[in-house]
Amino acid sequence: MDQLQGSGYDDVIECPYEKSHQIRKSRMQTHITKCKKNHKDLNYMKCPFNEIHFVPKKDLEVHKRECPDRGLFERYKYDISTPAPIQHTKNVITPEESYAPVSDDECWDSYDDKPYDPSEQIKNRNVIRKCMGKTPSEKKAFKEAERLRLQEHRNMDL
Ligand SMILES: [Zn+2]
Ligand SMILES: [Zn+2]
Repeated sequence: MDQLQGSGYDDVIECPYEKSHQIRKSRMQTHITKCKKNHKDLNYMKCPFNEIHFVPKKDLEVHKRECPDRGLFERYKYDISTPAPIQHTKNVITPEESYAPVSDDECWDSYDDKPYDPSEQIKNRNVIRKCMGKTPSEKKAFKEAERLRLQEHRNMDL
């Protein structure tokens, strides 16, 4: 009697090939490997959730749905697989994101307190134009000139 109580890991379970085989859980894997050879006619498949679950191939789909170890397995899978992608996307800032602010934004800050009003928005836009003191094409020309200037500078350094 003493032997049956205790760890619980060493529970005696039925061999999936032969119900009369009462095998200790800890020895089941070894037994199955041997017993399988005597039952080659039976097409048994190993349960993906538990190494000692062997079920007839035709019943495997049913077993996979009903396997008592499925929950554990899926929780484990969930635990290890979810944190990784989240960390990945949150920690990595793409260059595009870090360069997001545009020069025009500086002017918007001074109007933050005003309530939203479409006509106000239009006025503000005009103010921004003035505050920048440049039309888009002028800005473009300035940028281009600046680019050329820097390029010349670099060429001189070489
Ligand atoms: Zn057996
Ligand atoms: Zn199973």
